[in-house]
Amino acid sequence: MSVGTVYQAKVRPFETRRLEGGRWACLSPVGEVAFLDAQILELLRTAPEEVDGDLRQCLKAKHFLTSSASTPGLDRLYASRLAEKAATAAGPPALHILVPTLQCAHSCQYCQVSRALDAQGFSMSQNEMLAACDTIMASAAETLTVEFQGGDPLNRFDLIQLAIEALAHHPARQGRAIRFVIASTLHQLTGQMCSYLRQYDVKLSTSIDGPAWLHNKNRPLPTRDSYARTLQGIELARAALGPDSVSALMTTTHHSIEYAEAIVDEYVALGLQDVFIRPLSPYGFAKRNLAYLGYSTQDFMRFYKRAVDRVLWWNGQGVAIREAYAGLILNKLISSFDAGYVDLQSPNASGRAVLVYNYDGWVYPSDEARMLAETGDTSFRMGAIGTPLEALLSCDVSSRIADQGDASGDPDCSACAFKSHCAPSPVDAAALAQGGHAAPTRETEHCRRQTAMFDFWLNRLGDVEGRGDTQTADLLARWAQPNSMAGAS
Ligand code: SF4
Repeated sequence: MSVGTVYQAKVRPFETRRLEGGRWACLSPVGEVAFLDAQILELLRTAPEEVDGDLRQCLKAKHFLTSSASTPGLDRLYASRLAEKAATAAGPPALHILVPTLQCAHSCQYCQVSRALDAQGFSMSQNEMLAACDTIMASAAETLTVEFQGGDPLNRFDLIQLAIEALAHHPARQGRAIRFVIASTLHQLTGQMCSYLRQYDVKLSTSIDGPAWLHNKNRPLPTRDSYARTLQGIELARAALGPDSVSALMTTTHHSIEYAEAIVDEYVALGLQDVFIRPLSPYGFAKRNLAYLGYSTQDFMRFYKRAVDRVLWWNGQGVAIREAYAGLILNKLISSFDAGYVDLQSPNASGRAVLVYNYDGWVYPSDEARMLAETGDTSFRMGAIGTPLEALLSCDVSSRIADQGDASGDPDCSACAFKSHCAPSPVDAAALAQGGHAAPTRETEHCRRQTAMFDFWLNRLGDVEGRGDTQTADLLARWAQPNSMAGAS
């Protein structure tokens, strides 16, 4: 007698995506994936009680199937896993990005922020910094991440210190953990700065675009030594703050696209445990220089595949290194716990999970929104720094993002298999706007990139499962865990 004749099997909601080769990936919103042939998928949809016993148990364990009988324990577990996956988007703002200054010595062609070190009017005032700290502390988040970005924030170390002191000793802190991160070239880092940073366990995040010749090409200095100077900064920080005090990420330009293996090898040589293979962000100056620096999504994905294969090869040699973008995508697909990556939430979490306090005195919902403002579109300003947090969270920009950043209300996203993990980016749509009309979601860089990355990793997971490669499956499951996602903002 079939179990199904006693209790009807009930199918929980899931999405499907066709893989190369014809199999299907089934995606559960709680962070599970199952790979099925078309026939079995059809059976699961139409007569789930007839799915083979072992597979049925597996699909139950992964929350694709449940029983029509009362299962309060399982239902509670399912509800708590759904809530856990939505925690970042639904919670109070936990990530706060402070941009003390736009000053930076580099003149990177893909960056909108470079300003000469002696330029005036490109830094926050002390009062604005203190007001931003009050807003941060008004958030109810149990753990706060405060990230200093720029320009190069170390050019205004006085403002960094002002903020750290104000936050660390703020009356509203009430024992909450604050994780401080400074994103910097590290060229200005000194031993004295390190002594101060050690007191507050401040982490450093820097950029390494690859071997010296490539890094220097992407990040030019008049002295042509940006790689050597960043390396000096890394060594100084490691000696003073510990071996794990510095993480690094890279930006891919068309100069990089043929050198995937050399870039990964550089990270291994530097003893870095994460390499974040990031595509160019087409904002501001980068957009203007796109013809010179850009490449197609297909070119990027070919480059990305080579980089991932090289990372896995190093893992096979016993070297612990992870590709961080993979970690973020796999976290969405196959982990119960959300890593808190604010760029990949459903609904879009810009201006709620993250707030950006910019050198120009305004609060923005995301890094991209402040970059858009640099090229003249200031429509994503949420309010002046000093505006109370409740007012920021209920401002017109917040309503616009809630409205336009909801996958269920977007015709492209509502038909998309990834809508539990991803949502439209209103800032991206505005960046591509023509004649006052925002671009359709499918045309946005955000959508193209995330679709390509989800597809890549679903195919890779399906392939690993199909080959019975448990070693790689275990490795990828570890990458998916939300630990050490430094620099993931
Ligand atoms: S933005 Fe694109 S990838 Fe993301 S949910 Fe919408 S359609 Fe899917």
